[in-house]
Amino acid sequence: MKITKAILLVIDGMDTVNFTLAYTPIMDGWHGKTAVGVAHTEIFGAGTTLTPIAHGMMGTGANILAHRPGKHTSGKCYDYYGEIVESIGDVAKEAGFITAAVGKNEAANVLGGIDNLDISRLEIDGIDASDDQIIIREILKILADFERGILVINYNGVDSSAHSKNLLKVIQAVEKGDKIVKKITETVDLNQTLLIIASDHGTNPLTGNHNTAPTPLCLITGSIPGRANLGIVHNMEIAITISETLNLRRPKQAIGRNLLKLAFSSPEELSYKKYIEEQLEKLWRASHKRHELKKKD
Ligand SMILES: [Zn+2]
Repeated sequence: MKITKAILLVIDGMDTVNFTLAYTPIMDGWHGKTAVGVAHTEIFGAGTTLTPIAHGMMGTGANILAHRPGKHTSGKCYDYYGEIVESIGDVAKEAGFITAAVGKNEAANVLGGIDNLDISRLEIDGIDASDDQIIIREILKILADFERGILVINYNGVDSSAHSKNLLKVIQAVEKGDKIVKKITETVDLNQTLLIIASDHGTNPLTGNHNTAPTPLCLITGSIPGRANLGIVHNMEIAITISETLNLRRPKQAIGRNLLKLAFSSPEELSYKKYIEEQLEKLWRASHKRHELKKKD
């Protein structure tokens, strides 16, 4: 059956340490139909502790700059020359898919900014992104009429609990995140839906600060048999995974692998290293040109 919906749930601040502290049977894939990987989130020159950038690269598959969407900026992604970088929101809209974002404003960065959204239920619309019940309520409202589209959710409960250095609350928030996943899996037809759970970065409940620790990345869809291992992945690969799964054009700068295909592949393909090296080389070549231009004037 054809997959016509992609749902990306970003659990803000959930690194692999916060993840393993909690009881999360759904994300762990006890029910099957799940592929689990360990994601790197770092960006050259920036670092994913900058939350809007971490979200933007999930939607563009490139090294980008982005700001938190709000009154003053829509949250588009830019390259280092100030050009707008195409996102999965752009290619989805072009193909007539619905784009929707729920929770923390950064969810809009994935789709190329708030002016790319057909449905917006973000903090700027009065939504409390740390309240799991409100997040579930808004997700269910959207899914009630969502045939072809991309829904990006940012649940902020883990990040905010870790900032307040409350370890027990962090554990509870991760478990609430698992319940959000459960609710989604019970609501959608998994044969028509790809659900991706990722995190933008970790937040350490002992220091109260963001970190660049590896983050979990889970794919849930009907065609995955049992519990597959994705190995080491990169959050930038989410853009290609969503666009290819929905049969959309690839965003222009996207690189990496289709992680859903990876769920069925052999162990030697389980590393993003080659793709990151390619991009690093591209970036290096571009920087060199800029340097030469400077010398001329
Ligand atoms: Zn934070």
